[in-house]
Amino acid sequence: MAETFSNYINGEWIGGGALFENRNPANTHELVGQFVAGTAQDIASAAEAAAAAFPGWSATPGPARGAILFKAADILDRRFEQIAADMTHEEGKTLPEAKGEVRRSINIFRYFAGEGARMPGMLVPSERDRVHMFALRKPLGVVGLITPWNFPSAIPAWKLAPALICGNTVVLKPASAAPLSAWRLVEALHEAGLPRGVVNFVAGPGGALGQALVDAAPLKAVSFTGSCPIGNWLHGEASRRRLRIQLEMGGKNPTIVLADADFNSAVENVVNAAFFSTGQKCTATSRAIVEDAIYDRFVEAVVARTRRLKVGNGMEAGVEIGPCVDRAQMETVLSYIEAGRQESGQPLCGGRRLTEGAFAQGWFVEPTVFAGVAESHVIAREEIFGPVLAIMRAANFEDAMRIANAIPFGLSSSIQSTNLSRVFEYIYRAEAGLLTVNLPSAGVEYQLPFGGSKDSSFGPKEQGPAALEFYSDYKTVYLKY
Ligand code: NAP
Repeated sequence: MAETFSNYINGEWIGGGALFENRNPANTHELVGQFVAGTAQDIASAAEAAAAAFPGWSATPGPARGAILFKAADILDRRFEQIAADMTHEEGKTLPEAKGEVRRSINIFRYFAGEGARMPGMLVPSERDRVHMFALRKPLGVVGLITPWNFPSAIPAWKLAPALICGNTVVLKPASAAPLSAWRLVEALHEAGLPRGVVNFVAGPGGALGQALVDAAPLKAVSFTGSCPIGNWLHGEASRRRLRIQLEMGGKNPTIVLADADFNSAVENVVNAAFFSTGQKCTATSRAIVEDAIYDRFVEAVVARTRRLKVGNGMEAGVEIGPCVDRAQMETVLSYIEAGRQESGQPLCGGRRLTEGAFAQGWFVEPTVFAGVAESHVIAREEIFGPVLAIMRAANFEDAMRIANAIPFGLSSSIQSTNLSRVFEYIYRAEAGLLTVNLPSAGVEYQLPFGGSKDSSFGPKEQGPAALEFYSDYKTVYLKY
């Protein structure tokens, strides 16, 4: 009998009402858990509880707020193995990837816990005699957090921790496809002694709950990670109410491979960035833009490497690529593969749903490589969010830069090259918020700002010291003594 997970409002676990299922995408016979489907009324109650908790929490000294985050991190650490296994079961990513993500959530909690004792403001000299002037940070109030399924722990963690350490109170709405990982964070915060109402968790259908959240009277800000259409809709709603808003959305990330690259690492980096986590990373490479001089050799090597990837249930040792998160995501991926066939010809490997034997009960798609993809093709322009790589030919470095930048997205971007001048040229001209050089395009750390540019993002960056900018405001003081 699968466990039922309640919502968390005003420090209480609230059961009752309709439930929705959380199933394992590698084996849909396995019910991971049932979640209480929150309602618009639950969101309203959660926002009211958060508003009531705000005066107390915002007046709590930063180091004391940090102590609770440290304690929650310790609780997560003690349950590390279980929480990672939960993630593999609900989202499908491999166990090593899930462990990496849970480790990151713990690190994020500790990093921002430390900020509680710093909370940097500004202190500068005045032009005037005996005037002491400074700016201190103050929290915003109640903030709404809406998160996607692909990093079901790290993304809620990198929103929750800075929101809380700045003194805000929170209503969190996790993704319906993978709510358990976020629930585990809230459970740890509860056990760590977070005062009632400071964090509230309401799972359930995004449309109804999203609307209720942006309509909730006490809300002051909303931070969203997810798809562009939902983010853009939220932007309109939030602007109507003059809510502060932060959006991290889709991408169509390029990796440029120049002829002077370390060939073998470039192949590894592209395959890793395109297919690990089943291509379901917002920073995944979906376009490899390869210089003509090495194009044929590179395509051949990537295809050979991709064929060796082991697809399967992420709980099994040795498996590198898990399933798509659910049927809808798998069907989206298969429809893009079909669009690729129409425009770019047969894929050089992959291209099918896997249904034989143990695959029959899951949402598995073969890692798929298309070559000879033109800029006008759908698979070169739209986010697929699955294990599909489009390889494109570039005449030279300038042509590769042009192709890389000629899209509306600007999340991550990568170059593989040993030519320092080209690398710097690329760094200054690449139109993306996250760049990697001789590394996969995906794989970021929490100590630096995270976020895209162009249509991929809106508002201040997440993570690192930059995260404080969204979750706090300045109060500027001039004092004559
Ligand atoms: P999504 O469909 O946009 O959903 C994201 C969240 O929004 C979920 O919690 C969803 O709830 C909720 N939602 C759905 N409809 C809503 C509405 N009308 N109002 C408010 N909230 C609503 O995205 P996803 O499929 O979960 O995630 C994949 C997308 O996220 C990709 O485009 C990927 O690139 C992007 N992503 C971006 C970043 C980044 O940092 N830039 C990181 C990770 C992922 P339900 O689950 O209940 O529908």
